[in-house]
Amino acid sequence: MEKKRTKVVLTPDESIQLVKELFKQNVPENSWVRPNPRSITHYHTYGNLTPFFKGLTQAKLFGTRCRSCTTGIWLPPRAHCPDCWKEMEWVEVNTEGARVYTHSMTQYPGAGFKGSVPCPLISVEIPGVCTKFMSYLSEFRDGEPYINMPVRPVFRTKNPTYTILDISWVVIA
Ligand SMILES: [Zn+2]
Repeated sequence: MEKKRTKVVLTPDESIQLVKELFKQNVPENSWVRPNPRSITHYHTYGNLTPFFKGLTQAKLFGTRCRSCTTGIWLPPRAHCPDCWKEMEWVEVNTEGARVYTHSMTQYPGAGFKGSVPCPLISVEIPGVCTKFMSYLSEFRDGEPYINMPVRPVFRTKNPTYTILDISWVVIA
């Protein structure tokens, strides 16, 4: 049996047809079916990671460090230590000496990609940070990024998205 295609955006008439098809006998021909558009507001909690996202809106980069283990700063932060499960402490990350560890270029983004293309995705190595921070370059020229490229963070403090996209990196010329 041939499968029916469903368009992403339906016209009001198509919506009515769809409802009638879905409910078949339950919607008699003479019953009105009218669209009743609604929108919802989703309240999302940042939980224990609030200081990180709040920091981005204030042009500050915060990571977490375990008081018991000596692994260094975790970035993105973990609320609890992945090694000993104890609560971590917040520290502001000094990005001096940050370099591109590795990179790739997004040319064909998948669904949900919020940036423009081509988009250079970078993994940033920061002294004192025990993880590589995944991010993107917000400005680049031919031949950039390259491995070991010195970078500094830039923050979207005006009209922030309150997501990880509020931090990006640029080359230190
Ligand atoms: Zn620990």
